[in-house]
Amino acid sequence: MRASELSEAPFRILPEVTAENEHFWRGGARNELCFLRCRQCRTWIHPPAPVCPRCLAKDLAVEAVSGRARVVTFTVNHQPWIPGFPPPYVIAIVELPEQAGLRLTTQLVGIPPEDVRIDLEVRVVFERHGDVYLPLFEPVVGA
Ligand SMILES: [Zn+2]
Repeated sequence: MRASELSEAPFRILPEVTAENEHFWRGGARNELCFLRCRQCRTWIHPPAPVCPRCLAKDLAVEAVSGRARVVTFTVNHQPWIPGFPPPYVIAIVELPEQAGLRLTTQLVGIPPEDVRIDLEVRVVFERHGDVYLPLFEPVVGA
């Protein structure tokens, strides 16, 4: 990891990358937001699980989604909970168009907190920390 990568990105509490979730945290290396998907019934699966929750098949594969999403709900954090990560910042739940209920809790970037709205169209942008790529979301310009 180069020092410049760390100095440019704010401090984060990083996830534990495992064999089961590596596709999700490292897909950003290819600029792809990836999930497990059932090859039998085509259900997207998140968080990762060994079995499809819909049809119980174990025939799962990693696939990339479009990276588009819309804001379902959000909160503006004004408390300095995390050292070196100054508020305010926007924590949001976004839903992906690929499947009803396919949602991520994420941070919105590139928009002042007061401008965030429910149903705002956003797209994924990755923030790199070594070999972990955190999926954050920014507004779609012109949406
Ligand atoms: Zn299935």
